[in-house]
Amino acid sequence: MTEKHRVAIHEASHAVCAHALGKTFYGCAIFAEGGGCAGSGTLEPAAVADYTPQALAPCYDKDSLVELANDAAITAAGAVGEALARFDPVAIPSHCDRMLLQAGFRAAFPSCDDYEAERAWGALAVARARHALFTAGRAVEAVSDALLEKGVLTALQVSELIAGAAK
Ligand SMILES: [Zn+2]
Repeated sequence: MTEKHRVAIHEASHAVCAHALGKTFYGCAIFAEGGGCAGSGTLEPAAVADYTPQALAPCYDKDSLVELANDAAITAAGAVGEALARFDPVAIPSHCDRMLLQAGFRAAFPSCDDYEAERAWGALAVARARHALFTAGRAVEAVSDALLEKGVLTALQVSELIAGAAK
C-alpha cells in the first residue's frame, strides 16, 4: 500500500464513519503533504486550511455527551479504517487524531484527569468506529478510490459513494 493510498483510506474512513453516525456534512481531501476530513457544514470542497487540528477542534464544542462520543468515534475511524484495510486487529490513532480524542475527553469530562478513564474513552471511540465501518461494508473502499482519483470529495459526493457501495 502506498502512502497516498493509506492516507486516502484514513480520510475516507473518517468521512464514512461521520456519515454512518448521521453527520452527512463531512467531506474529505488528500493533499501532497497528507489529508483531511471535515464537516464544514457546506457541500463546497474545503480548503487545505480547513483540515487542521485547530480547525477541527470546534467539533468538540458541544454539551451533549452522545455528540461528543460520536465525534470521538469519527476521530478514531481514520486509524480503524487503516487497520481494517490491512487486517490488523490493532488500531492506533495518529498523533493529530489522539490530540482530538484527548480534546473530546476533556470536553466530555472537564474535571476528570484519570488516565484510565481517558484510555477507556479512546477505546470506546475505536469500538464504535469499528462497528460503524464494518456496517458500512465497501463504502470506505469506494470513497478512498474516488478520493485517490479526485483529491477532494464534497459531503454530497461522499453520500453518493456510500449509497452506491450499499447497492
Ligand atoms: Zn485522522
